[in-house]
Amino acid sequence: MRLLIMGPPGAGKGTQAKAVADGLSVPSISTGDIFRKNVEAGTMLGREAKRYLDAGEYVPDEITNGMVRARLDELTEGFLLDGYPRTVAQVEALDKILADEGTTLDRVLVLHVDQDELVKRLTGRAESDGRSDDAEHVIRRRLEVYSEQTEPLLDIYAQRGLLVLVNGMGEVEDVTQRVLAALHQTG
Ligand code: ADP
Repeated sequence: MRLLIMGPPGAGKGTQAKAVADGLSVPSISTGDIFRKNVEAGTMLGREAKRYLDAGEYVPDEITNGMVRARLDELTEGFLLDGYPRTVAQVEALDKILADEGTTLDRVLVLHVDQDELVKRLTGRAESDGRSDDAEHVIRRRLEVYSEQTEPLLDIYAQRGLLVLVNGMGEVEDVTQRVLAALHQTG
């Protein structure tokens, strides 16, 4: 099973990606987590990525694409990608990576959460986790960048017949069950 999970910042992608990947016994790969770990460890990649993360901007495609290819090349079976692709150029890069392996995507999960709830969740996370990109002006920028650069990707995947829309409101466990049920239903 090769899946993407998409949705705006605060939709719960990371939380659901881990739970759903566990349920399906595939690894979940989060580009945001990989960037944050590199920032913490002070690697070259981390030093490059930090200023983009702190500003709520996307890390440049060349950096992100290379990182994802390296990670996916290590895998033999399926995966759940969380937070990638986020730009049209990344969609093309992922198509190429998969084509080189002779595979394609099976499904693209999209978590839908109301705008008010998104802002509430992100502000709450800023207080509890202290993520540097959860400051209010950065949150606003991340939501903007999402609607400008990433929302258009939903059309691309819809045209390929891959989209599976899931309501992301409510309890974490309920959302996980909805995602798994939706995957079963769409065969
Ligand atoms: P969220 O979706 O809640 O904003 P993530 O952890 O997925 O959180 O991403 C945090 C940050 O990491 C993004 O704002 C961006 O700077 C960087 N990032 C993650 N994935 C990508 C990507 N595919 N392309 C470019 N930058 C990315």
